[in-house]
Amino acid sequence: MKTSLLLKSAAVLLAALALGVFLFARVPVDARAPSYDLLITNARVVDGSGNPWFRADVAIKDSRIARIGRLKPETASRTIDARGQILAPGFIDVHTHVESIYSQPAAENFIRMGVTTLVTGNCGTSTTDVAQFLGRIKEKPLAVNLATLIAHGSVRRKVMGLGDRDPTPDELKQMESIVEQGMKDGAVGLSTGLIYVPGTYAKTDEIVALARVAGRYGGLYATHMRNEGDKVADAIRESIQIGEQAGLPVEISHFKISNKKLWGQSPMTLGLVRDARARGLVVTVDQYAYTASSTSLDSRLPSWLRAGGLDEAKKRLADKATRERAINDTKDALKRSGFKDYSFAVVASYDPDKSFNGKSIAEITKEVKKKSDVTSQIEQMLEMYEAGGAAMIYHGMGEDDVKRIMQEPFTMIASDSGVRQIDESVPHPRGYGNNARVLGHYVRELKLISLEDAIRKMTSLPAQTFGFRDRGLIREGFAADLVIFDENTIIDQATFDKPHQYPLGISYVLVNGEAVIDNNQLTAVRSGVALRGSGFLGEPQRISAASALK
Ligand SMILES: [Zn+2]
Repeated sequence: MKTSLLLKSAAVLLAALALGVFLFARVPVDARAPSYDLLITNARVVDGSGNPWFRADVAIKDSRIARIGRLKPETASRTIDARGQILAPGFIDVHTHVESIYSQPAAENFIRMGVTTLVTGNCGTSTTDVAQFLGRIKEKPLAVNLATLIAHGSVRRKVMGLGDRDPTPDELKQMESIVEQGMKDGAVGLSTGLIYVPGTYAKTDEIVALARVAGRYGGLYATHMRNEGDKVADAIRESIQIGEQAGLPVEISHFKISNKKLWGQSPMTLGLVRDARARGLVVTVDQYAYTASSTSLDSRLPSWLRAGGLDEAKKRLADKATRERAINDTKDALKRSGFKDYSFAVVASYDPDKSFNGKSIAEITKEVKKKSDVTSQIEQMLEMYEAGGAAMIYHGMGEDDVKRIMQEPFTMIASDSGVRQIDESVPHPRGYGNNARVLGHYVRELKLISLEDAIRKMTSLPAQTFGFRDRGLIREGFAADLVIFDENTIIDQATFDKPHQYPLGISYVLVNGEAVIDNNQLTAVRSGVALRGSGFLGEPQRISAASALK
C-alpha cells in the first residue's frame, strides 16, 4: 500500500515533470518576457552620455525604453532593422520660439532634423499663461514634446507696458507673482531678452528679483544677453551675477561674438564661463551651427527710439532732429560693430514688400534709393521699421569662434528657430538644418568633435540642464524619444538662399515610442507630451548655483 502510494506519487511527479519539460520545450523562452511594441535591432547605439557607441537591440513598450540588449525579434509586434545606422536619443532643442506651434502641430522642420523636445519662451517672449499653453496639447496634440520658460519681457509688458522706466515696488510684486504662477504651472525657468523692448529697459536688480522666484521653484535663468558685440564680456558678467545673486543655474542663449572687431575673442568669453563654473556656479551655453544670427530689424536701432512701441517711435521719428539723432546713434553702433555698411544684414521676411526677402539692406537701398552710403542705408532701415519692421539675418560671426564654442563641454546645440511653413519667406536655415549640420558638417566632414560628443550636446546635456530627468539618454525606463540616422550621409540641405529644405540621412524619429518619421515619411502620429518643471510637481528645489557656494 505504502509502496504503491509512493510509486503512484512518483509516477504523477514524473508525468508532471515530463509535461513541464514538454511545455517548456514547446513554448519560446521569451514568452515569459514582456512583449514589446517595437524592437530596434542591430543599431550602433550612441546613448547620449558621450560614451563610445555600442551595438544593441532596443525594445520599446508603452512609450518607454523597456530593454536594451540582444533581443529576439519575435518578442515585439514590430521590428526595425537599423543595421549600419546610429540609434540616438531624440534631440532636445532648448532654444526655440514656437509660441505658434499649435497652428503647425507636426512641427516638421524640427522633427525632420531629429528634434523630439522643444523648449520655447526664450529671449524674453513667452506666454504669460503657462497652464493654458501647455494644457492645450491635450486637445491639440503635437508631434514633439513641449516645455516653456516664463519670459521676463512678456511679464513686464503685461504689467508695465513697453515703457523705458523702472518698475514701482507694486509693479515688481505683480511681475514676481506672474513668474511664480508660471513656475507653479510648469515653466522650466525664467528667460530674458535684454536687447528687445521692453526687456532692454530692465536693470540687473529687477531681473535678479524675478530670477529668484524662478530659482525657488527649481528653474534656471536663460538669457539673451544685453550685448553680444562690443560689450559681450560685461553682458556675460551680468548674466553670471544674476545667477549668483538669485541662486539659480544660468543658461546663456545662442552664445556668440557678433562684433567683427572681437572675432577670435571666444577664448576670453568662454573663459568667463569657465571661471564661474570653477567657483561653483552652474553656467551653460547653447549655440546654433552657423556664422549668421537672425532677429528683428529694430534690434539694430537705438533702444531709446523704440520705447513704448512702434507708434511712439513713429512720433519720435517724425521730428527731424530726433530722426537725425537716431541715424547718428545707429551709425555709431555700426562703427562699434566693426562692419563698414549693412551688406551683412539680409532681410528674411518683410511683409510690405516681399521682393526684399533674401536681399541685404545695402542691396535694397541701392535698388530703392540708388544710393550706397551708410546714412541712406539707415534711412532705408528706419522706413522699413516704420512700415512694421522686418525679420533679418545678420552675417556677423567668425567661423573660428563658432568652432571653439562648439568644442566646449558645456555647450548645447540649439536652433533658435520657430516652426516653419514651407516656402514662406526666407528664414535662417538653422530651423531646418541645425542638428544635421552639426552631425554632417562639423562631425563627419571637419572632425571638429566626435559623433558621441555631438549627440551628448543635443540630448543628455540639455536634459540635465533643463531638468528632463527621464529623457536625453538611452536607458531602460527612459521615455522612448529616439532617432535613427546614417552617420555617413546625414547632412543639412537648407542654405541661406534656399532654406526650406529638410536634411538628409534621418530615417526614423520616435516620440514617446511612436514613429513620427517612419522610414523617411512624416506620419499622422502626434505623440508629444507637455514637459513641466519641478515647480509644477511641487518638488523640492534642486541644489542652486548659489547654495553650492555656501
Ligand atoms: Zn535670442
